[in-house]
Amino acid sequence: MSDNNLLSTEQLLALDKQHIWHPYASMIDAPPVYPVVSARGVRLKLADGTELIDGLSSWWSAIHGYNHPVLNQAAKEQLEAMSHVMFGGITHPSAVKLAKLLVDITPPTLNKVFFSDSGSVAVEVAIKMALQYWYSMGRKEKQQLLTLKNGYHGDTFGAMATCDPVTGMHHMFSEALPKHLFADAPRTRFGDEFDETDISSFKRLIEKNHQSLAAVILEPIVQGAGGMNFYSPDYLKRVRQLCNEYDVLLIADEIATGFGRTGKLFACEHANIEPDILCLGKCLTGGYLSLAATLCNDKVANGICQGEAGVFMHGPTFMANPLATAIAYASVQLLLSQDWQQLVKNLETQLLAGLSPAKAFDTVNDVRVLGSIGVIELKQPVDMAVIQKQLVDRGIWVRPFGKLVYTIPPYIIGDEDIATLTAGLVDIVKN
Ligand code: PMP
Repeated sequence: MSDNNLLSTEQLLALDKQHIWHPYASMIDAPPVYPVVSARGVRLKLADGTELIDGLSSWWSAIHGYNHPVLNQAAKEQLEAMSHVMFGGITHPSAVKLAKLLVDITPPTLNKVFFSDSGSVAVEVAIKMALQYWYSMGRKEKQQLLTLKNGYHGDTFGAMATCDPVTGMHHMFSEALPKHLFADAPRTRFGDEFDETDISSFKRLIEKNHQSLAAVILEPIVQGAGGMNFYSPDYLKRVRQLCNEYDVLLIADEIATGFGRTGKLFACEHANIEPDILCLGKCLTGGYLSLAATLCNDKVANGICQGEAGVFMHGPTFMANPLATAIAYASVQLLLSQDWQQLVKNLETQLLAGLSPAKAFDTVNDVRVLGSIGVIELKQPVDMAVIQKQLVDRGIWVRPFGKLVYTIPPYIIGDEDIATLTAGLVDIVKN
């Protein structure tokens, strides 16, 4: 087997089944996977020539669609210069330009940028920043985190310890995971009048435990993988106030919500708050390569660097990879060069119009839309194997989980495709 191009689709799928783990999948009873051979715009092309409308942007990331000429060009130019160089003792234009751009567009106090390889690692970095900050300040007892039930922050150990303990299956790792505190998930929905009792559980925990708390970590406005819940900006405002009051850092995980998904460039803007530490990832490179960034304010950076170590104790091999940072710079510039607010607003209108008919079905619990995120929540969990095939047969790529059938399409999706996508989803959940 010297040339992969010679593999037939059957061989490819057989080898895949035999050797490759897929996300959250079994190696004994492997579910079917679909062989994608190319992607352009909002379409994924399968080996048999079938084209699917991508309703998922490859898990929130491909906001400009696939094979975008601007991003391709940025990749080619950077490839000619260098695809990688170490970041210890070296810098390069793409990293500097991207860092400056991120500092300019994120909340004003965030002006230090740490690049890493993936969302989970960005969360690890954020947690380490918070812990090292308090260590440096001589408050070594501040080592615990406070977070929200139904949260999701990644699959590595530090991040996993902040995910919802039930859905994150903490019991399987309980001996190895640090024990953090979990407040009740926010109940007041985005757009509804805030119910002050909603913050009680969080308030109780921070009041009682602030002496040992390094930071609060949460997903602002949208709890993604933990249930696609859109919650009130007032909750977030209360969290910021309480963090100030009790001297606890606030980490905003905007890995999913960043770069316009919720209708604001960053979801924190809905509440007009600034975190001390911000995690970005997913669509940072427009879905081309894995890259993440953790930003922090001067208080955190100076606190860490004036402490015992004098440096921040982290430094991945592929930190600030030039290819990834060059594409990310082009991707963020591309987003900002468009009327992205209008683009997302249009998507919101179309998603709402397209998905709302599902509200009438007995099988459906709720339909909700925020920015470019559309969710149909069912009363019963879906049968993945069945529904995935039904969706593909309709020419649609989305990947429901639990009771949630949701879409987060590329921002460039056209009216006709969004109509096909939403009609397909509505049709699928009918029975
Ligand atoms: N935080 C949030 C809010 C996420 O949605 C995700 C990914 N789903 C992560 C962190 C982890 O990112 P990655 O998968 O790139 O490690």
